[in-house]
Amino acid sequence: EVRVRFAPSPTGMFHVGGARTALFNWALAEQSGGHFVLRIEDTDASRNRPEWTEGIISALDWIGINGGNPAFEGPYFQSAYEAQHREAVAKLLADGRAYYCDCTRELLVARTGSEHRGYDGHCRDRGLTEGAVRFRTPDDGVTVVEDLIRGNVEFPNEAQEDFVIARTDGSPLYVLANAVDDITQNITHVVRGEEHLGNAAKQMLLWPALGATPPVWAHLPVIVNEQRKKLSKRRDKVALEDYRAEGYLAESMVNYLMLLGWGPGEDREIMPWAEMMPLFRLEDVNSASAFFDEKKLRAFNGEYIRALPLETFEDRCAPYLDPSWDRELFSKVAALAQTRITVLSEIRQNVDFLFLDEPVFDQASWDKAMKNSPVEILTDYLSRLETVSWDPESLKEALEEVGTAYGLKLGKAQAPVRVAITGRTVGLPLFESIEVLGRGRAQERLRAALA
Ligand code: GLU
Repeated sequence: EVRVRFAPSPTGMFHVGGARTALFNWALAEQSGGHFVLRIEDTDASRNRPEWTEGIISALDWIGINGGNPAFEGPYFQSAYEAQHREAVAKLLADGRAYYCDCTRELLVARTGSEHRGYDGHCRDRGLTEGAVRFRTPDDGVTVVEDLIRGNVEFPNEAQEDFVIARTDGSPLYVLANAVDDITQNITHVVRGEEHLGNAAKQMLLWPALGATPPVWAHLPVIVNEQRKKLSKRRDKVALEDYRAEGYLAESMVNYLMLLGWGPGEDREIMPWAEMMPLFRLEDVNSASAFFDEKKLRAFNGEYIRALPLETFEDRCAPYLDPSWDRELFSKVAALAQTRITVLSEIRQNVDFLFLDEPVFDQASWDKAMKNSPVEILTDYLSRLETVSWDPESLKEALEEVGTAYGLKLGKAQAPVRVAITGRTVGLPLFESIEVLGRGRAQERLRAALA
């Protein structure tokens, strides 16, 4: 059975990179009838916050990774297994695979003459009974991490210091706890970010020392921004929650994230999860860094929005509209908006003119609209509205005629009318908007604009 895990540390907002890692793992579990273990690595009490744990769980749920699928197992909390981590340290000590060390940093630097040289093995055979615990690493040979994405990555053992697995107070270190949990949770494939490759070299030694056969390793390429810099929460918009709030659909997010380092082949890109999931292969993941292209994600989202059944689209828009806004009125323009918006939050500025008593007022929009159009456009069009037959085609012809009288093409004639009606310089098709707004309200707006 394939058993994978996703093991986030709740030290911040849940990141798109974490979501990509989770999805790759999820695909492996789901396609093989295996299991995906969610393990919250919450041992760093000073950096963890419960709301971040909740954020991870709800973001995973949003992208479809949740207990509704039998492949999902957990969440487990690493902090609950400290006793097991300590037992593992005790076993390594008892087996002579680890030893106590009381060297301070200053002593080590004084001995080796360098800040950067690793630990020199000073305490290996001193037989101490307290202190930090170090794992005894081999002095020669190489440790090979057979990575499905990177091939065989070799780590010369002489460069691998005897690393610490427990602090002087007895608390186990991350590299140890992570391996112990993977072993006890019967993990077969460790799929995680590239930054953990160095941990894999240590864990290749820890697993056998703890009596276990190492897992299959796969370290995913870093995700970079437009400047080819690693995505970071300081520089980039990375929180899944922010994308969600802006009105990205989970479906397009999932689709796009799956393409960061992998693809279904044959240049196919837009593909729903159900089709993509069985095609995913770790062997096909690219080791080169993956560019997170927000523009492309946005374009994907527009496509997914347009593919929604109209009623679903309306439902998805609801959180971005005022609850008091009449749903039936919204339905009259929803289809027009669906072809135009790329994130759901844009719905509001497109339709608010229908619901507000007065359209939003923006001086800059007025200045722009009136730059090339005489105010008479509004007066004349207003008088036409009294008798014009109330359909988009007739509304348009009427404005065309008014424009012609002032030597203006429709585009120019339309600008002040659009701002008077909607308050904005861009938006839904104007004549359909006027039609839905209704004769009385449209006249009112032109009058208000002229006042
Ligand atoms: N807790 C680690 C992290 O958030 C994950 C380590 C792992 O997947 O092994 O980076």
